[in-house]
Amino acid sequence: MNCPPRIDLHCHSSASDGLLSPRDLVLRARANGVDVLALTDHDEVAGLAEASQAARECAIVFVDGVEVSVTWGGITIHVVGLRIDPSHVGLNQGLGAVRASRLARARRIARALDGAGIAGSLEGALAYAANPNLISRTHFARFLVEKGCAPDVRTVFQRYLVSGAPGHVPHQWAALADAVGWIRSSGGTAVIAHPGRYKLTGEQMRVLLGEFRDLGGEGIEVVTGNYSPQQAADFGRLALEFGLLASRGSDFHGPGESRVDLGKMPALAADLKPVWHDWECVAAHV
Ligand code: AMP
Ligand code: MN
Ligand code: MN
Ligand code: MN
Repeated sequence: MNCPPRIDLHCHSSASDGLLSPRDLVLRARANGVDVLALTDHDEVAGLAEASQAARECAIVFVDGVEVSVTWGGITIHVVGLRIDPSHVGLNQGLGAVRASRLARARRIARALDGAGIAGSLEGALAYAANPNLISRTHFARFLVEKGCAPDVRTVFQRYLVSGAPGHVPHQWAALADAVGWIRSSGGTAVIAHPGRYKLTGEQMRVLLGEFRDLGGEGIEVVTGNYSPQQAADFGRLALEFGLLASRGSDFHGPGESRVDLGKMPALAADLKPVWHDWECVAAHV
């Protein structure tokens, strides 16, 4: 391989909490010079067909993906599935149950915000959800910005939606074993998303990675949108220590909301084994 592929294996469309349609996301990736793109919507595969078609039209290698919400050790962890089969029955049943639980949670969030004096937030959030089957805190955040509760989505999260804030409600997501199982049974590779975002001690992170690997998880995001070079180095070392494949993804949600645009992250360090090391679709492209 002469030069590394320009690859982005984590982003969101309007099928979950991204701002762009799957087609527009692919076109933006193309404009940014991305060669290989995975769409990884939260708990949802509904955007993949449109993205895949758009990618064929503009000669991007497209990878079917998903980002599954998991509760592990009392905290929320995200597991990305890459090269999944979007039509796999078991995967769809699992994701369907997670999506249904999102609607129930949204009703609880709306009640909590009612208690904080903010009325109408369920309807308000749903108005921002292009896919009514996938309602996320991000949709509440956009509504709260519209209401003038805070100047931007980031601030609104801190004031209203994170743990300890008035609009936060506890929620039980999928079990780690189930999420990895759904991804693997559909032919996909399971990857721990943005490990730097979880408030875990070094020891807790090692327990998570050990358990994840024992369940059949294979990868970890070493380079993602908001990482410092130090974090990329730390997670690169953990990838080597646990024998995990390294992934790279922006976690782009939309222009103006995400600091890092599609594909605009540093390369993986040369001593890591990329998650795409044996993907024919990538080898054929570079
Ligand atoms: P949910 O899965 O509904 O709990 O929503 C999680 C999503 O909210 C993440 O994927 C991010 O897109 C967004 N998010 C979470 N925390 C923040 C934050 N502090 N600032 C901005 N967006 C956030
Ligand atoms: Mn999101
Ligand atoms: Mn995530
Ligand atoms: Mn994400």
